[in-house]
Amino acid sequence: SKAKLFDQDQKVKTSFKDVAGLEGAKEEVQEIVDFLKSPDKYTSLGGKIPKGALLVGPPGTGKTLLAKAVAGEAHVPFFSLSGSDFVEMFVGVGASRVRDLFKQAQQKAPSIIFIDEIDAVGRSRGKNNITGGNDERENTLNQLLTEMDGFGTDTNVIVLAATNRADVLDKALLRAGRFDRQIYVDLPDLNERAAIFKVHIKPLKLSKDVDIDFLSQQTPGFSGADIANLCNEAALIAARKSKKAVHHQDFLDAVDRIVGGLEKKNKIIA
Ligand code: ATP
Repeated sequence: SKAKLFDQDQKVKTSFKDVAGLEGAKEEVQEIVDFLKSPDKYTSLGGKIPKGALLVGPPGTGKTLLAKAVAGEAHVPFFSLSGSDFVEMFVGVGASRVRDLFKQAQQKAPSIIFIDEIDAVGRSRGKNNITGGNDERENTLNQLLTEMDGFGTDTNVIVLAATNRADVLDKALLRAGRFDRQIYVDLPDLNERAAIFKVHIKPLKLSKDVDIDFLSQQTPGFSGADIANLCNEAALIAARKSKKAVHHQDFLDAVDRIVGGLEKKNKIIA
């Protein structure tokens, strides 16, 4: 496969107000924003700023969104890549890409590095050797550990990584001075779903009959990504019927469609 280097966004527009709910997680990452904004305040007393934090939670709950919002709030560049990109890479490419990523991020420091799906590279070593192991994955993981250890406390690059399986990660990643903090990003509860709906109906032309509280009750188990998808689906359903606005019924039809899709997916998995 053709190797894209990594993504970078020098002017992140995402802020905490784009992230609905997740109050606890936002409070925890606020500290990282403060470190990035005024590192001296922390280091002047001899404290060491953490190098990394792990965002742990189910798919679609806003881990990427939250990481991006940290960069946006701190007004620092955001460098990102996904662990799954490394899986089919040629020998040496993964490690050199990690090296390049960290070098760039340091040049633009203060900055955020975000590694999505870190479990794809960071799975416990040796456990997956049924197929003879994956040397390239190990090389990449080792390079990642080397880079994080090489950071001085004054580097001012903070590495955020996301996973939905912290339990499969190599313990070396979780050691002090690496990803030694875990921040939980859970599925939204009823009130959080309402807050997420409010974010995602904003761009829509809505009929007055839309009842967010009712929709929030009808969507237990939905992630933020599912709700974003639902709002878009409702708008498409309304448009197909040539309506002038998105009505409550369009949201209900979209719920049915998405729940149907989820059930099908679960059946295939089971
Ligand atoms: P994955 O583990 O699948 O990578 P993730 O946890 O990183 O998922 P995101 O990619 O951040 O999830 O979420 C996908 C999209 O869903 C976001 O871009 C946003 O539109 C919506 N979304 C998810 N969570 C929230 C939230 N808490 N508030 C508002 N929108 C959300």
